[in-house]
Amino acid sequence: MINDANRIVFKFGTNILRNEEGEISLTHMYSFIEDIASLRKKGKEVLVVTSGAVGIGAKKLKVDTSTSNVLKQAAASVGQQILMRIWQDGFEKYGISVAQILVTEDDFSNRKKYLSLRNTLSKLLELGIVPIINQNDAVLPSELVHVCFSDNDKLSAIVASKLDADLLVMVSDIDGLFDKNPKEYPDAKKIDVVEKVTAKIEKLASGASLGGRGGMITKLSAAKVVNLSGLYAMIVNGKKPRIIKRIFEEENVGTLFLPNKILSHKKRWIAYATNIMGEITVNAGAKSAIIDKQKSLLAVGIVDVKGDFKAGEIVSIFDENHEEFARAMVNYSSDECKKIMGAHSHEIENILGYKGDDDVVVKDNLVIL
Ligand code: GLU
Repeated sequence: MINDANRIVFKFGTNILRNEEGEISLTHMYSFIEDIASLRKKGKEVLVVTSGAVGIGAKKLKVDTSTSNVLKQAAASVGQQILMRIWQDGFEKYGISVAQILVTEDDFSNRKKYLSLRNTLSKLLELGIVPIINQNDAVLPSELVHVCFSDNDKLSAIVASKLDADLLVMVSDIDGLFDKNPKEYPDAKKIDVVEKVTAKIEKLASGASLGGRGGMITKLSAAKVVNLSGLYAMIVNGKKPRIIKRIFEEENVGTLFLPNKILSHKKRWIAYATNIMGEITVNAGAKSAIIDKQKSLLAVGIVDVKGDFKAGEIVSIFDENHEEFARAMVNYSSDECKKIMGAHSHEIENILGYKGDDDVVVKDNLVIL
């Protein structure tokens, strides 16, 4: 099953690329490179999402970046090329070329940029090159540093799902998902396979010590995104020797998340849009029509509209308890939605002075989360 994965995204967290002293862990990196090289030899396509630029740059500059975003950005710029040099030298030993791709969320949400990025990445894979991807920290508006993709788990999930990978492997310093917090409970057991990332599963990660950037919560969200796109996801511990090789020998390492629902490209685009332009709140009747009867969203069920969006843009759909339960591409702008909310479809023409769609969102443009 895992062995059949042809296009694989590996995400390496900062903690696994550095040792306790904060220096680059060459032992880890070279072991990952060796195993990836042997996957390449078998004809598999590999993309790497690497973290570590900020941490490694801070170490080099001997600065504490914890209170300054601009210092983080400066450190990332220094660390990025140190990191790249190692990836490049390492892969070169196996005759494999690498490419550096630095991206921001905007590169995925702007369709033109996204298509161009997708073409470039596809071409690199076709040429047998391993793309090494990280967030372009240097160009982010300072207040958005680490808010944008917020973490590389999310970036790796977006890359994997938008590039039609088969498997996302998040390599971190934890063995996988446990049934209880393993730091508090010595009898905690690793969960080998998760069929679906449900609210119950998400609860397992909600302990404070497991949360935070790059913690279990972000890994579960990443797994959820890729599973919904029809991909497998794994969380494995990169501190375990030859972990990548062992995954493909189908040893029971880490936690495997099974794909559970395959969304079309268009629906993925809607569900994982990075630019949500507004919010529509609907009443219980509309929520149940959408979820239980797979119906479109009509103006009559709308109780509130927030944000400034145009027809064709993506909005979040909330229920009256302020829980987001769907995302959708709307047929009307926010101004129009505000005017027609609560109205029956046959009244729309009277209210707006022109005849628009009967549905505010057609069911094909609606994804239940
Ligand atoms: N772009 C960040 C870095 O290279 C990584 C962010 C993250 O690990 O979530 O340091």
